[in-house]
Amino acid sequence: MEKICVAVRVRPPVKSDEDSNSSSNSNCSHWKVDDNRISLHRSLSGTPLPPALSYAFDHVFDQNCSNSSVYDLLTKDIIHAVVDGFNGTAFAYGQTSSGKTFTMNGSENDPGIIHRAVKDIFAKIDMSTDREFLIRVSYMEIYNEEINDLFAVENQKLQIHESLERGIFVAGLREEIVNSAEQVLKLIEMGEVNRHFGETNMNVRSSRSHTIFRMVIESKGKDSTNLDDAIRVSVLNLVDLAGSERIAKTGAGGVRLKEGKHINKSLMILGNVINKLSEGAKQRGHIPYRDSKLTRILQPALGGNAKTSIICTVAPEEVHVEETKGTLQFASRAKRITNCVQVNEILTDAALLKRQKMEIEELRMKLEGSHAGVLEQEILKLRNDMLKYELEREKLAMELEEERKSHREREQCSNGISSQNGESLRKNLKEEASSTQQGDAFSTPTFKPIPNSFVAKRCYNSTTPVYSPLPDAFGDVVDEDTWFKMNNGFIADLDSIRMTPPKQLSSIPSFDKIQDSSIDNYKEVENLRKQLQQAIDERNEFEKQHKEQVALNNQLMEEISKLQEIPQKLSESLGNCKAVNEEIFFTFKGFAEDEKSATANLFSKTSEFVMSLMSSFEAQIYMAMNGFRKADDGKGSSYSEEYKKKYKDCTLETQITCWKKEMSDEIKLIKERYENLEEELDMNNQLLEASKARIHGLQKESQVLSEERDDLLLTVSDSWKRSASLNEQNEKILQDLTCEIQKRKDLEDDIKQFSVGFVSRYKSYKLFSSEIKSKVEHLKAQKPFALIS
Ligand code: ADP
Ligand code: MG
Repeated sequence: MEKICVAVRVRPPVKSDEDSNSSSNSNCSHWKVDDNRISLHRSLSGTPLPPALSYAFDHVFDQNCSNSSVYDLLTKDIIHAVVDGFNGTAFAYGQTSSGKTFTMNGSENDPGIIHRAVKDIFAKIDMSTDREFLIRVSYMEIYNEEINDLFAVENQKLQIHESLERGIFVAGLREEIVNSAEQVLKLIEMGEVNRHFGETNMNVRSSRSHTIFRMVIESKGKDSTNLDDAIRVSVLNLVDLAGSERIAKTGAGGVRLKEGKHINKSLMILGNVINKLSEGAKQRGHIPYRDSKLTRILQPALGGNAKTSIICTVAPEEVHVEETKGTLQFASRAKRITNCVQVNEILTDAALLKRQKMEIEELRMKLEGSHAGVLEQEILKLRNDMLKYELEREKLAMELEEERKSHREREQCSNGISSQNGESLRKNLKEEASSTQQGDAFSTPTFKPIPNSFVAKRCYNSTTPVYSPLPDAFGDVVDEDTWFKMNNGFIADLDSIRMTPPKQLSSIPSFDKIQDSSIDNYKEVENLRKQLQQAIDERNEFEKQHKEQVALNNQLMEEISKLQEIPQKLSESLGNCKAVNEEIFFTFKGFAEDEKSATANLFSKTSEFVMSLMSSFEAQIYMAMNGFRKADDGKGSSYSEEYKKKYKDCTLETQITCWKKEMSDEIKLIKERYENLEEELDMNNQLLEASKARIHGLQKESQVLSEERDDLLLTVSDSWKRSASLNEQNEKILQDLTCEIQKRKDLEDDIKQFSVGFVSRYKSYKLFSSEIKSKVEHLKAQKPFALIS
């Protein structure tokens, strides 16, 4: 187990004209890099930051760091491992203009990771003396969730496939076989021209697509005598992701908005995948690799078999603080992911075994899928075998009868009934044969021992047919009832029956020649007796086999009847499914706030569609069940009556052809029904998948909304607190004001009192002075001289 290597790189601040003219330091970095730690050390308000806003990673590169150090510390080991047969992936994540492309592609003076990796790989290969290498490169972009080939402009909208041999791969992507770093770099340059560049108000040349540069390195030992040496195949992905910023921030609309949505979808899924993977094996659950092309292609690199590094680029400017925080959180989650890395070796035998395993699996699936069909085939085969045995037994019985006849003739001859003409003899034989037939067509013919007095001579130049002639009584040995008894109503395919060649028997010698025969031929008769006994034994053996076949047949019939119960069970479980489905859609409807909303509409339409599909499925099952029942009814005697009527005038062969035709028609019908059902099921599954994806999307949106709502609530509560404190201050000021007013009033009262006092004093002063004046006047008038002196 190996953790994903995660690094953060801070790009140098952008110097705008305003900054160089003014003394403001708005673009000054707020992120402090300290060894492998990055922290936000000064916020907008100037208040100190909580310690939570400090992150540690495998490496943190500050603005002065060059691509060369990033490559050496972060990706060099991965590149070397790729040459040794490990899968490797390095990708750049971050908002637009944070330096992803600079890190991956670099500049003229400071080449990026791709350039350095290509050079390094070829240098390492050149140094390797014991292995030979085959290198293929491809370059693709994911633009608006479509995969385009950057080496061949005509290869657009490529599809992702998966196979046991190749794993996950992009079908139709051009792979160039290369043998020098210069060749690869030239190809990349050519591919760059085809990249989609757009313009937004965030960055003049902003990449709107994800690009994946891929190198497949195959190698094998030069020593061909070493049989243990395996072929190694490893894949290196160097990924430059599109900007991770929110769409709203770009302020773009129209086409650009569509691009943004897709970019965000891909990155959102990437975020989801990283989240899930970082949760630890137990809580993980389903990992949505398949929800976007990007995660599907990067699947082996994320939580799979690959050495992976992520470089998260951040912009230091104040305006980008929020995006930077987002990138650092993404990086923190990615740091928790562990991969299980191993060398990718291909052994020829192992590949063969793999393929065989797959084939067996496929066959097993098929067998499971059409269990009834397989059983049917088995029954057919067994019935055919049984029929074959019956026919052979029949043939033997006929031969026996023939032999019996010849014995009888010989007996008659030896008893001197030579006067009886040939016609009456045949008549007698015929009668005897028919009397045997009336009981059981397949019963053992009575064997009469040859009298000791029998003397016969065999004829060696007979002109009679080579094979035993068929007696008239056996011309139509199997009537319909017997046939049915024998086959349990089964229709045999005569083409598949192999006939046992009839035994070559000697012809009956003519009466004249018998008379010439001598006692020495008795041995031959004994021989014939032995043959007869052998035939009887064989017949008994066949009878035994027949019984076994019938038992097997019955067992198979039981299995078929069990299979016939499946539709019943299916219809029951379908009923349950319907109930569950109704419940699910009822719950879904609960999610949609407005009953007339598009979501509610979608839910109800989907529910209707699913229900109608289920109903039609139910109808099909019902039909299938009825079909079985009819077949069951038909097994009784009424069916055999009907059957007899139907095939009364037909020969055996035409009957069999008719049966075959009917059977194949029925099988065809069942197959069609089955295919239709499968198609419906597929559609149903697709629809369910689409609904799931939509629900997933809605859940994500609601999550984002609830996060935003939480943010807003926080801001509101902050403002509320601030306004409360302001109110308090207001009240205090008001109190102070009323105090002041009161004081002022008191002062005014004092002033009034003072002025009243002053006026009265002024009046008394005036009075006093007038009094003094008058007194002085008076005194002047009384003693004017005294006063002057
Ligand atoms: P992205 O690919 O993330 O949108 P770019 O790599 O295009 O961003 O970077 C935006 C600009 O910043 C480019 O002009 C690039 O040259 C410059 N830049 C980014 N990172 C660095 C760095 N570490 N040193 C110098 N210039 C950089
Ligand atoms: Mg870029």
